[in-house]
Amino acid sequence: MKFFLCILSVFFLCACGSSERSTFISIGTGSQTGVYYPVGGAIKKLVEDVEGNHLKVSAKASRGSVQNINDVMNGSITFGIAQSDRQFQAYNGSSNWEGKPQAELRFVFSLHPEVVTLIAADDSGIRTIADLKGKKVNLGSPGSGHRGNAIAILEAASIDVETEIDAESLTVGECASMIQDNRIDAYFYTVGHPNGSITEASTGRRKVRFIPITGMDKLIELSPFYATTRVPAELYPQAIQDGEVDSIGMLTTLVTRSDTPDEIVYTLVKAVFENLEMLKVQHPALQGLTPEGMLKGGNAPLHPGAEKYYREAGLL
Ligand code: GLU
Repeated sequence: MKFFLCILSVFFLCACGSSERSTFISIGTGSQTGVYYPVGGAIKKLVEDVEGNHLKVSAKASRGSVQNINDVMNGSITFGIAQSDRQFQAYNGSSNWEGKPQAELRFVFSLHPEVVTLIAADDSGIRTIADLKGKKVNLGSPGSGHRGNAIAILEAASIDVETEIDAESLTVGECASMIQDNRIDAYFYTVGHPNGSITEASTGRRKVRFIPITGMDKLIELSPFYATTRVPAELYPQAIQDGEVDSIGMLTTLVTRSDTPDEIVYTLVKAVFENLEMLKVQHPALQGLTPEGMLKGGNAPLHPGAEKYYREAGLL
C-alpha cells in the first residue's frame, strides 16, 4: 500500500509539474472531409512531439476560412487556417469584412495550394458554369472560404445568384451524400487535393464530373490573390474525365492575431520548419511544401514571432 501511494504521488507530481509548464493553444481547421482538418492534426502532432516543448495544441473542426479568421480575431482560437484570398479580404476590409478591416490579423506561413473545385452530377447535364442556371448548387456555408469564391465566379459568369440558380448553403461535410442522394446537382469546394469529400462523391453510384472554371481573366485581374490552376482530376479515377479541368486557386495560410505572444508563434513555427519533412508525409496535398514557398501568400503583416524564426533560419 505504501509503495502504491508512493508511485501514485510520483505520478501526481509529474502530472502537476508538466501541466504547470504547458501552454494550451488552438488551431481552427475545417470539415473532417477536407484537408485543413488533417493538416491541423498533423501540425498538432509535430509541435507536441518536439522534446521539451510546452505547447499543447487542440486542432478544432470548423466551417472553414471565414469562421477561422473571425474566431482568431475574437480570441476564441489562437491560430486559424485560411485561404490567402480570405486573409487579404479580412485584412483589407472587403467581402465578408466590407468596411471592417481586421488590422490585427497576422500571417504566420502558408501551406498547400487550394483549387476552386466545381463538381456536378453527370445526369444533371451540367458541363459548363453557364449550365448551373436553374440547378440546385451548393455554394457553401457562410463560415466557409469557398462560398465567397462561388459567388465571385457566378457573378463573373453573369449568373444572378439570387434568381438564376437554386442556391444552397450546406456545410461541405454534407455535400458528398447530398449529391449522391440526388438532393443537389453540383457543389463548389475550394480545397487541396486529394480530399475525403470529393473521394466520397466520386465513388458513389451517381456518377460525377469536374466542371472547368474558365473565362475568369477579368476576375483574376481584379483580384491579386487568385491564380489560374487545374483540378488534379487524376486523383479521383472514378469521376468522369474530360481532359484538363482548368480552374483558379490560391494558397492555404496559417494566421493569428498581433497579440499572440511571440514566444508561442516562434515555438510553433520552429517546430513546423525544423520537421518539415515529417509534415510533408502526413498528407499528399503537403508534398510540395518548401520553406521558401511557405513564406509566400502573406497578405497581412508577418507576425514578429514567425519573423524571428525566419531571420534565424536565414529565410528572410
Ligand atoms: N477552403 C475551405 C474553406 O475555407 C476549407 C478547405 C479544407 O478544409 O481543406 O472553407
